[in-house]
Amino acid sequence: MKDRREFFSSIFKSLCLCTAGGFLANLALKASDNYALRPPGAEDEKRFLSKCIRCGLCVKACPWNTLKLASLLDSPKTGTPFFKAREIPCYLCKDIPCIKECPTDALDKKHLEQGIESLKIGIAVVDSSTCISFWGLQCDACQRACPLIDRALKLEYKRNERTAKHAFLVPVVDNEVCVGCGLCELACVTEEPAIRVLPREYVLGKAGAHYVKGWDKNDEKRIEQADTSKHFNTKKAQDYLNNGDDL
Ligand code: SF4
Ligand code: SF4
Ligand code: SF4
Repeated sequence: MKDRREFFSSIFKSLCLCTAGGFLANLALKASDNYALRPPGAEDEKRFLSKCIRCGLCVKACPWNTLKLASLLDSPKTGTPFFKAREIPCYLCKDIPCIKECPTDALDKKHLEQGIESLKIGIAVVDSSTCISFWGLQCDACQRACPLIDRALKLEYKRNERTAKHAFLVPVVDNEVCVGCGLCELACVTEEPAIRVLPREYVLGKAGAHYVKGWDKNDEKRIEQADTSKHFNTKKAQDYLNNGDDL
């Protein structure tokens, strides 16, 4: 009887310890633990999750040990691959072995033809309040680390409003070119990175179909495909402007 009581008591203690451990682990989570970057080729999270069978072949194929499979304590769905750029970024292997080895096309094989510059893993975002180059100190660590230097990440002149005498050279990211490899985040010299790569859906807005870039031929094509069956009633608009009637 005593043995039985001791047995249940030890199980209870273990459960308490596990729960407390999980609770403490949750407390220890930082804001940066609430998001994760997916491997190359997984830009559409919904598509990716519907196809990934959690086999871990991409993780095995990565020569840099960038990728991990999520455990219960990680924010992505358990068993799915992800990486943290500040720990180990994606080194953009030319032959993209992680995509090559994926047996289900969860990592989109189109990138094997289109090459590493077509990847959209995430977007680098600069925090101007902690990036020391915005303080006037000289730093180009992130820019030098960028494999798409001067295209994805440029240094631009900015006037120092505080002294009104000097100019700053500050990092600026081009969202359309940045592939989200995270090499800049790893290279950043501040205690917590002042440049971070976030999943694209966290960063990008959406202009909406009715705004068109007049200087962009591809974007202008959308006008050709637009639904022109609805016409604006100019008579109603004039009456509204003259009489204050409802349109
Ligand atoms: S491209 Fe290379 S470094 Fe990046 S995740 Fe794939 S295998 Fe790893
Ligand atoms: S290889 Fe493909 S299916 Fe397997 S874990 Fe990686 S992404 Fe998922
Ligand atoms: S994530 Fe950083 S290093 Fe990589 S392409 Fe974008 S700006 Fe360059």
